[in-house]
Amino acid sequence: MKTLLHLILVFFVGILSAQESFVIKDVTLFTGEKVIKKTSVYIKDGIIVKVAPTISTEATVINGNGKFLMPGMTNCHVHAWAPNALTEAAQAGVLNLLDMHGVEPYQKMMKSLKDSTDYARFYVAGYAATAPEGHGTQYGFPVPTLTKPEDAVKFVEDRVNANVDHIKIIVEPWKPTLSHEIVKAIIKEAHQKNKKVVVHISKVEDAYQVLNNNADGLVHIWTDKRMKDDLLTELTNNKDFFVIPTLLTNILVQKLYFKKSDEETAKVEQFLKKEIKRLYDAKVPILTGTDPPNANINHGTDLYKELILISEAGVPNLEVLKGATSYPADRFNLGKIGYVKEGYIADILLLSKNPIEDIKNIETIESIWKAGKEIQPKK
Ligand SMILES: [Zn+2]
Repeated sequence: MKTLLHLILVFFVGILSAQESFVIKDVTLFTGEKVIKKTSVYIKDGIIVKVAPTISTEATVINGNGKFLMPGMTNCHVHAWAPNALTEAAQAGVLNLLDMHGVEPYQKMMKSLKDSTDYARFYVAGYAATAPEGHGTQYGFPVPTLTKPEDAVKFVEDRVNANVDHIKIIVEPWKPTLSHEIVKAIIKEAHQKNKKVVVHISKVEDAYQVLNNNADGLVHIWTDKRMKDDLLTELTNNKDFFVIPTLLTNILVQKLYFKKSDEETAKVEQFLKKEIKRLYDAKVPILTGTDPPNANINHGTDLYKELILISEAGVPNLEVLKGATSYPADRFNLGKIGYVKEGYIADILLLSKNPIEDIKNIETIESIWKAGKEIQPKK
């Protein structure tokens, strides 16, 4: 009996250590920057310790021949109200969620789940900055509001004290909204506290204003009209910013909330795709986000649809993948994730087909590891 127990114990310890240390061999690798054909990746204790064509080690070998390996993905615009959203994301290979307006005490609890394979990591804005009665105040929880530029100091201080990761501002003129003077003051204050600032806009004029006032990025793309060439050129010459267009969301809300016809929705989609392509051509990084649970979008697999739409807009697939992996890590200072490189956290996805050849292959995720530990993909 004792021997049997011992054997069982050895067996389980064997499984555990096998998971801790393994090599994925002869795989096509997207590193977060570029593609390397037929290489191998050695993972030990949750870290990528080596990337090379041949690796000699005692570790378990996973045959990656004909398969594709890439970094775990990030959804850069979500609202998550409970931990099940983080589980849904993790099981789809979306290992990081960036919240853009939520209840700070809940967020604190959800952030503490970051080291579990049952959940995606959660990065938060805390409460978004908005005006009294403004967009963001209608969800049934109390939200701090700002009425003058001087309010920016306390607003940012409170968010920093609540341990937020970034600052989110709402400029949405369908309701009372913040003036650009107030927005400018928040951005300045947040930058002094080393926080990135992203802004919700829906109009091109607001997009121009907030980027000109040094916002780091937009969490939606404008939907009203084309940005004039000279304004886009002026912005891209003088400012360093990114856009999370939330194309899927923008398309779905046309029908669901604005009751637009299929034909009208298709027109909006074409317009938005053109604007995204213009941004890409102007070298603006396009990051992936879907704004769940708005428009009934889920926190997991629906991100694939956004990648497909951005690809359809004319953004090359390599660039689409960067927008879901390395760009979010760089732009939001997420640390050693978003790349498959030596010294980085082993957040990796193994796919049976190559999404650079066809972006729809992003749906072929076979295996997911978060910090070197396997997560069962949802079937
Ligand atoms: Zn949102």
